[in-house]
Amino acid sequence: SPIPDFLDETLDRHRSDRSGVNADYIPDLAAADPEKLGICISTLDGVEYSSGDSEFEFSIQSMSKPFIYGMAIEQEGLAAVLDMVGVEPSGEAFNELSLDKMSGKPLNPMINAGAMVIHSLLGEPGASLAERIEIVRAGLSEFAGRQLRVDDSVAEGEWGEAYRNVAIANMLRSHGVYTDQPDEVVQGYIAQCSILITTKDLGIMAATLAAGGINPITGKQVLSPRVNRQVLGVMMTCGMYDAAGDWMTEVGVPAKSGVSGGVFGVLPGQVGIATFSPRLDKHGTSVRGANIFRTLSRELSLHIMDAP
Ligand code: GLU
Repeated sequence: SPIPDFLDETLDRHRSDRSGVNADYIPDLAAADPEKLGICISTLDGVEYSSGDSEFEFSIQSMSKPFIYGMAIEQEGLAAVLDMVGVEPSGEAFNELSLDKMSGKPLNPMINAGAMVIHSLLGEPGASLAERIEIVRAGLSEFAGRQLRVDDSVAEGEWGEAYRNVAIANMLRSHGVYTDQPDEVVQGYIAQCSILITTKDLGIMAATLAAGGINPITGKQVLSPRVNRQVLGVMMTCGMYDAAGDWMTEVGVPAKSGVSGGVFGVLPGQVGIATFSPRLDKHGTSVRGANIFRTLSRELSLHIMDAP
């Protein structure tokens, strides 16, 4: 197959780009090796094509949000979740202290405010912090097709600097969006963000969404088709935060980025694509990762709005 060579060449073309900076507010991310570069494309039957540092582990960060959103809908039902968190693009940064003025709820589950409410829905009402973390860990593992773990060092470092997320969690509580302890919601959300994955894991997770919710390795239906579609719809409109419109028009692949430097994209019915490179642009998206997606979209005609 010509695909491995094509992936090697694609990484080589982007390797020398040193623009952007590592995330600075989480100590382990600030200290991460910025040269790391990996890619994985996974088909719906679990064939993985990868190149570069595709087995290097990094924290999932905001790339957890779409998967946790799907899990919460499976647990609570779509109507109940829509009652708590909307599906409108915010056009704001991921960590904006924002609530919809009309409804009093977070605009969407991809910004931190919405993601924290979604996290708070997991498990029985009043579930403990440890129970929620285990639900998240086990749930994300189903998407990856192997047992994942929380990196406590990443989590502790983020908690030490979590003033803004604590402010968001308190804002949600003060508006009566939930009755949970705000500090616990943030700690659970941070543990969620600190789960370790490789680029290959991320490729499989993306392929699971591309396959209508069926994990290509385990064959397990992780999300029902309707919930899977909901997740992809929200990724398409809100996944790239304040760059969502630019991304959708130029790249045209529903995608999600995280401040660790990962990006994953989903081509429904076709493939899952994942990249990793730690230096970020001003939106908190990997510079080389986003550019690799631009290259792939152009050269492989991946834009979902292109006529076949
Ligand atoms: N843990 C990060 C935060 O909440 C995730 C942000 C991201 O990956 O975009 O600040």
